[in-house]
Amino acid sequence: MLSISEIFESVQGEGPSRGKNVVFLRTAGCNLRCTWCDTPYALELKQGTRMETEQVVDKIKKCEPKHIVLTGGEPMIQQKLLRPVFEKLSDYYIEVETNGGFSSELDEFIDQYNCSPKLEGSGNKKYELKLLPNEKTWYKFVIDNEEDLNETLEYISQYKLPSKRIQLMPQGKTKKEQEEKMEWVEQVSREHDFHFTPRLHILNDFR
Ligand code: SF4
Repeated sequence: MLSISEIFESVQGEGPSRGKNVVFLRTAGCNLRCTWCDTPYALELKQGTRMETEQVVDKIKKCEPKHIVLTGGEPMIQQKLLRPVFEKLSDYYIEVETNGGFSSELDEFIDQYNCSPKLEGSGNKKYELKLLPNEKTWYKFVIDNEEDLNETLEYISQYKLPSKRIQLMPQGKTKKEQEEKMEWVEQVSREHDFHFTPRLHILNDFR
């Protein structure tokens, strides 16, 4: 059975689809432990509710948007169990928030990958990027300070990530933290010809 943290309708707050009405499908369990993780309630598989495929599909269908944001935790650790869910939702636009540590076995269902590799500044050990550049994939880096930026630039160079698919996002779990870093991160995004993404859900205080 799937381990699900929550399913709810809201507005995508960050990344290329920000501002869109979506259904969030948040799975439980993550292979990483970022020091600034904003979903500590979804880190362990056992923190989730056990749900059958049909229960997940029904709950998603009760929401209005036909656009799913699969997130976590790290959703790809349950990708085998997610296959039958997406088989029943073939008319939905599906985007995935992933840390990039897993290759995708769900590619036929996925319209967009928002891959956010976690670097050493996050408190995790370096790991291999498995989600390599393709036409569906965007890369989003969480930037807290100058060291994060330098590490990000090295990483982009190592994996030859295309600048037109890079987004820099300020680290910050509160509106104050976001506002303190936004101007600088926006400026360095422009300097390096990357995109900048704010976190609208934090700035506007919506879920
Ligand atoms: S990868 Fe995401 S869910 Fe996992 S610890 Fe880091 S921020 Fe939290």
